[in-house]
Amino acid sequence: MSIRLFDTTLRDGTQREGVSLTTEDKARIARELDSLGIHYIEAGFPASNPKDLEFFEGFDASELENARLVAFTRARRPNGRAEEDLAVTCLTGLWAPVACIVAKSWRLHVEKVLRTTPEENLGSVRDTVAYLAGAGKEVIFDAEHYFDGFRDDPEHALAVLRAAAEAGATTLVLCDTNGGTLPTELKAIVARTVREFPEVEVGIHTHNDAGCGVANALAAVEAGATHVQGTVNGVGERTGNCDLVTTIANLQLKMGLKVVDDERLGRLTEASNYVAELMNLTPDTHRPYVGRSAFAHKGGLHVDGISRDPRTYEHVAPERVGNVRRTPVGELSGKNSIRAKAEELGLEPGDVAAVLSAIKQREYEGYHYEAADASLALLIGRTTGEAKPLFELESFRIISEKRADGETTVEATIKLFVKGQREISTAEGNGPVNALDRALRQAIEPHYPELKEIHLSNYKVRILDEHRATAATTRVLIDSTDGKRVWGAVGVGENIIEASWQALVDGLEYGVNETGKD
Ligand SMILES: [Zn+2]
Repeated sequence: MSIRLFDTTLRDGTQREGVSLTTEDKARIARELDSLGIHYIEAGFPASNPKDLEFFEGFDASELENARLVAFTRARRPNGRAEEDLAVTCLTGLWAPVACIVAKSWRLHVEKVLRTTPEENLGSVRDTVAYLAGAGKEVIFDAEHYFDGFRDDPEHALAVLRAAAEAGATTLVLCDTNGGTLPTELKAIVARTVREFPEVEVGIHTHNDAGCGVANALAAVEAGATHVQGTVNGVGERTGNCDLVTTIANLQLKMGLKVVDDERLGRLTEASNYVAELMNLTPDTHRPYVGRSAFAHKGGLHVDGISRDPRTYEHVAPERVGNVRRTPVGELSGKNSIRAKAEELGLEPGDVAAVLSAIKQREYEGYHYEAADASLALLIGRTTGEAKPLFELESFRIISEKRADGETTVEATIKLFVKGQREISTAEGNGPVNALDRALRQAIEPHYPELKEIHLSNYKVRILDEHRATAATTRVLIDSTDGKRVWGAVGVGENIIEASWQALVDGLEYGVNETGKD
């Protein structure tokens, strides 16, 4: 059985709160989906959105190697004519070879929202599908609220599908638009529907409102659906759509269905991160298969087991989906974790017992190394003498001034010794950490030109109350990047400047050391 993957990240996915994509972002995502082996890419609703129309008009057909581009629209308005309905006719002028038409299949919606009769609803489906099929489009038909509609009036729900199939739709997609159906019921309805339509493909479109987006898609495939719709990382309205990333991995690795080739499956993690990045969403580190923590082993016993045989605590091998095994080091770690971590970071483990006790002491003080590989590498490197500080601090001072007119200025002055030379530098910034970062770079960059490539990519502050100390403790995490890699550093102190300073220095020192290794 072959499964067709239909991605709607660029249409349904953009309904997620806070997401807005430029035409160029859309093109980049479309190319990524194409190279991942997705069969259909639904890129927008051109009649409703000028930006979507601009995408369809500007995007070049030759940019896609495998995927077919899909334009979305609704069925014609009640009592109208398809050939006079702009939402329908505008698709005929686009080169996109596939039209996806949505229509109501729940009587409640037909009567309350469309305010028309079930007969007129069927007429609208028939006309619209026939019109676009007649214009040479491959027509995929989305039956909105299919499961609610089937529960309410199965005859009408099936009649809607029949109208679409008879008019020329090649795929009938059953949509759980409200996302509230559970797998057992959904599977039974899909099975029943598949029996009714042996001559066309039946597809599934699910949402995650009951936490069953992926489970429902898999259940539908078990019941005979051969076309699966979803979005990368499950982005979408409310709680999101079926996550196509997890679904692809499950279909292929768990259900034995070949959906993409193995080489492409190995790019799943990269694709998931790439799309999250373009959507300006912080990737959820706990995503199944592709999250940064998906193969992270923290407990000493687990790390022990993994070092004997990865199958002890891993359901699949991380490299199948392009992910990597990690052994975050923390207070639960044993010596094996330290050795595994040193190896992962390309370091000599050195005196493992000393490293472990240093980590435990620092965790007690509030440090956290799970997201701070750079600080951890330096901690290990300092015990072996491998890590060398970039400079020796004499002092720094920060002046923050707020004036009556609301203007705020911050200035930092730093004095230090670098490669035997004393440097003094002053810089302004939009905040104390920014000013300090600038002053520090100004002082040491002439000695380490590679710092030009390194910049801060993320800055997080947390006030710790889990801590036993009397004063509040501040933990700062800083991610730095050289454009190719990202690394995290941690600092802890009684004030935010001290904590930031440590993380800042660790991030730069690690970056310079790593560049030196290339
Ligand atoms: Zn949807």
